[in-house]
Amino acid sequence: MRKVGFFRSIHLKFVLIYVLLIALAIQIIGLYFVRELEETLVNNFKESIEDRLSPLEYSVTEAMVEDIEGNRMEEEGPLSDAINVLLSGLDSEDIQEVRVIDARSRIIGAWSSSDNSYQTIIGQRMTDSLVQRTLEEGDTLTEKQNQTFVDPNDPDLGRIWVLASPLISNGEVIGSIYIVTKIENVYSQMDDINSILAGGTAISLVITAVLGVLLAQTITRPISDMRRQALAMAKGNFSRKVKVYGYDEIGQLAITFNNLTKRLQEAQATTEGERRKLSSVLSYMTDGVIATDRKGRVILINDPAAGMLNVSRETVLSQSISDLLGVEDEYSFEDLLSQQDSLILDFSTPGRPYVLRANFSIIQKETGFVNGLITVLHDITEQEKIDAERREFVANVSHELRTPLTTMRSYLEALAEGAWQDKDIAPQFLNVTQTETERMIRLVNDLLQLSKMDSKDYRLNKNWVNFIEFYQKIIDRFEMGRSQNVTFKTKLPNELLYVEIDTDKMTQVLDNIISNALKYSPEGGQLGFKVEKKEKEKEIVVSVSDQGMGIPRENIKNIFERFYRVDKARTRQLGGTGLGLAIAKEMITAHGGRIWASSVEGRGTTIYFTLPYDPTNEDEWL
Ligand code: ADP
Repeated sequence: MRKVGFFRSIHLKFVLIYVLLIALAIQIIGLYFVRELEETLVNNFKESIEDRLSPLEYSVTEAMVEDIEGNRMEEEGPLSDAINVLLSGLDSEDIQEVRVIDARSRIIGAWSSSDNSYQTIIGQRMTDSLVQRTLEEGDTLTEKQNQTFVDPNDPDLGRIWVLASPLISNGEVIGSIYIVTKIENVYSQMDDINSILAGGTAISLVITAVLGVLLAQTITRPISDMRRQALAMAKGNFSRKVKVYGYDEIGQLAITFNNLTKRLQEAQATTEGERRKLSSVLSYMTDGVIATDRKGRVILINDPAAGMLNVSRETVLSQSISDLLGVEDEYSFEDLLSQQDSLILDFSTPGRPYVLRANFSIIQKETGFVNGLITVLHDITEQEKIDAERREFVANVSHELRTPLTTMRSYLEALAEGAWQDKDIAPQFLNVTQTETERMIRLVNDLLQLSKMDSKDYRLNKNWVNFIEFYQKIIDRFEMGRSQNVTFKTKLPNELLYVEIDTDKMTQVLDNIISNALKYSPEGGQLGFKVEKKEKEKEIVVSVSDQGMGIPRENIKNIFERFYRVDKARTRQLGGTGLGLAIAKEMITAHGGRIWASSVEGRGTTIYFTLPYDPTNEDEWL
């Protein structure tokens, strides 16, 4: 914000307004006063002249009447002398000259304040129109003829007032008095007054201006304080307070302003708190959240969302949401706004499934104006995988059951069609159906076993047993019952190894593994059984190895999957269900161990599994 210069400030405006108002008031008063005063002075001047004129008129009329009637004494001299004497008695500063004119327009007396040779004009005719009219209309004039002007013959004199007054005797005009007065005196007096007035005005304006500056400060100081505070507030500084100078409107404004500051500060603190809460909620939630503005540009993205989309937060801000989700070809922002159902975003690459589900909700004002879009992302890869596995499982089960059933049907049909009578074929056919039935029973049993383990309330019935002894018994059982020419080689530690296991389940695990090893062993092959104690890892590693056909490298990791068989035709022939190792894996995992295989194709296979083992327990058992 720019600083307010003095010439734009409210301070100067106040002072200017004061000064202009005062100047205007003084002007109006002065104008009225001067006009009235001038009028009064001029009237007074004229009245005083007229007052002095009346006795003169009287005496001059007397003298003229005496002269006309012939009553004048010889020794008194000519009439003009008598009149001149009367006129010189006037001798006033205000009068410039006086002339007396008889009825025939002859000047019979004259006096002048400036020119002593003035009397030479006596006897001359006076042709002045003012005098003529006075002589002609004398008694009819209600107003004396007068005028004010500057005499062009004598401009030094200034303004003059000329007056002609009739001399009347017995209702007859016998002459006229003509006076030139120096009215300029009045005007110069007025000029003096005017200059006094002007001086007064100037002084009062200066005083007003000074007072104005001081007075304006009382108003402008709180205002500029508030201005400063507003600027500070705009920058986020709420700590300042406006000083309250008084309790007038401005004072109240300052108090309100301070209250407002406090409220704003509180409101800002609340907003900030909410913002922090929201941002911590957003960053600690596992779902991805993306918010956009009303044009679909990303304005907020939390860490999980950035992680899910494998983008950095800074680079995607203000990017379009449909670009970010990679759906710009199918969905515009408007489409996303009207998207009711969730959208499945498949980012899977070969070998790495990755599926996200996006749900959308619109940020709307009460008016219905769309303000933006909130997108919530869930990683549903795992769920999709489970779904796919379940579908595959059902398909596999159906397939596994259909094969023996089809075989059985064809054999039973053959039997029904008459093969039962053939003593050689019938037992053979019945044997096949029996084998298939047994296989199906095994399969169903395995499936039941698996589904039991899948159910939530599956529990192991654990006991502490000496694993060496337990293992040896199972090996012995297999050694006794074997039909092939296979040698058994055991390498078990000569000590007690107590582990906590569910013996039934562990028996099944070992059955599955050892029967596989036997199944895939060639005639004259060797089976190896080993147990190793790993004190540091707190586990024992159990292994069963054979010298069979082995498993191709790329298939090793799959053999623990349900229904997986390396060579489908061959293993089915051997009576496998494809579930044996899957069950073993489930059980080992339930015991807290791991299971894996290593194999060299054509040379043999080893299946390993671990079981948790705590060496500190040993002493208790000994
Ligand atoms: P099955 O009942 O078919 O044996 P398993 O789950 O026990 O099912 O084994 C899965 C597959 O792993 C078998 O079909 C077989 O191809 C392979 N396999 C398991 N054990 C061995 C082994 N010792 N030697 C070679 N292949 C084996």
